[in-house]
Amino acid sequence: MASFSRILLESYPINCQGLQRIEFTKENISLTVYFGEVIPCLKDLDPKKVSFDACFHDGFAPLRNKEMWSPEVFHYLSKLSNDKTTYSTFSSSKIVTEGLKQNNFQVQKSKGFGHKRHMTKASWSKKSKKKNDSRKKDVAVIGAGLAGCTLAKKLIDKGHNVTIFEKDAGFNKGPSSFEALVVYPRLSAFNTPYSHFCLHSYLYSTSYYEALKTTHWNKTGVLLLDFDETTHKRFNDLLKARQDEKVFKKVSKDEASNLAGISVPNSGLYFKDAGWLNPKNLIKELLNNSEISFVPQEVKKITETKVYLEDNEYSFDHICLCSSFQSNKLIELKGIRKKRGQITYLSKELDIANLKIPICAEGYISPTSKDILITGSTYSNSFSEKATLEDDLKNIQKLKKITDQKVKVLGSDYGYRSTTPDHLPLVGKLKDIFINISHGSRGTTSAPISAQFICDLIDGSPPIFGKEMIKSLSPERFTE
Ligand SMILES: Cc1cc2nc3c(=O)[nH]c(=O)nc-3n(C[C@H](O)[C@H](O)[C@H](O)COP(=O)(O)OP(=O)(O)OC[C@H]3O[C@@H](n4cnc5c(N)ncnc54)[C@H](O)[C@@H]3O)c2cc1C
Repeated sequence: MASFSRILLESYPINCQGLQRIEFTKENISLTVYFGEVIPCLKDLDPKKVSFDACFHDGFAPLRNKEMWSPEVFHYLSKLSNDKTTYSTFSSSKIVTEGLKQNNFQVQKSKGFGHKRHMTKASWSKKSKKKNDSRKKDVAVIGAGLAGCTLAKKLIDKGHNVTIFEKDAGFNKGPSSFEALVVYPRLSAFNTPYSHFCLHSYLYSTSYYEALKTTHWNKTGVLLLDFDETTHKRFNDLLKARQDEKVFKKVSKDEASNLAGISVPNSGLYFKDAGWLNPKNLIKELLNNSEISFVPQEVKKITETKVYLEDNEYSFDHICLCSSFQSNKLIELKGIRKKRGQITYLSKELDIANLKIPICAEGYISPTSKDILITGSTYSNSFSEKATLEDDLKNIQKLKKITDQKVKVLGSDYGYRSTTPDHLPLVGKLKDIFINISHGSRGTTSAPISAQFICDLIDGSPPIFGKEMIKSLSPERFTE
């Protein structure tokens, strides 16, 4: 028992409102914990997707903690039950037995444990229409960027058959071919769907990359500099809202410089679990280490179950679109915007040669797996199909907020982000096709949790998101 509780305690999620998933890969168990007030939490679970096998109701004495035993709680427990659901609680109070009986549970008073004379056991008494489709599926994933590859790997790990289609088989174009992408969240102290998603996707992605045990993920920590008034106010609000230092902590200018390995001009916030990854190598590793079938061709057309290439067609149980801004060629989607970005590679010289971790201010600078640094990035509506000097100069201008050292440019690259007006990705189902796109400027954090969600939908497992978040990410949300 002690060995089980040790594993549980080591992986136990930090206290932050919402659903969190922990995967115990070796034991083949996943644990979903919902932190929050009981009624909003139960209300946020979709009875069509979530159904309890066993419910242990543990909420202090009913007279001391009325919310936990209210008629509404029993109503939602009933909605989330099926004909195999069992219920138990240490309490044998009348409030409990009545609440259960009124909501279609068959109640049984049993012998209690410890110093308790009685406890309550119950089972749901109605016939359930809920069915779990646990069949292994044939799934097509279109696009082998971070979104497609993290999804393909999740599906393979769950035992599905996966074929991934990619038109740029050399992985030589776009952000997935950059030498490094920085993994950190854009947090705000306000309780908005965007801030909620940013925090949860960050927490999920950092444990996801850790669990991969790959050399292409570098958990170095990331430093965010307090470089202007707006940032200063945002950081102060964040520090007031979250004081436990589990996600970030305030660091002085000297502490920041020590962590970064170079002298920085401001204090900042330090995210200890953040870091940077080499997207191209990680993608190759995800594809190589598994039984994913790889088809290096452009998909020309899709239906709910068919993928058409120039001169071939394939049939599947499900199709998942992970083709970023190019998805519009295959299905009509509202709300996608295409934003160009350029990064600049720098020589490791003088002070910045000692850079140990990514630093973000107006732009960012990060180590890479080669003997060069990366700085970026621009954000524009341009469609220039070559790297420009103008954009390199913009990146170097932004870098001045981090270091005033002279730098030597070694090269540059560009790519396109798919973004949306509310900055949240489009993740979910549309016209019976799974959509996982528009990860904007935060694909490294948002791809793993989105992959988990799509995998849950395909698997018929309880989803990693509650109803509110599912609505906020819906691919239909920009359609009138
Ligand atoms: C300049 C710049 C800097 C960035 N920096 C960061 C950063 O530091 N940290 C961070 O988290 N994010 C960063 N991003 C964002 C991040 O790169 C993206 O969010 C992420 O790469 C999106 O992954 P994706 O898989 O959705 O899209 P992509 O990586 O674009 O992959 C989509 C894939 O689909 C393929 N495809 C499209 N259509 C078809 C078709 N019909 N058939 C077959 N294949 C098809 C494409 O060839 C492509 O490989 C940056 C982006 C840019 C442009």
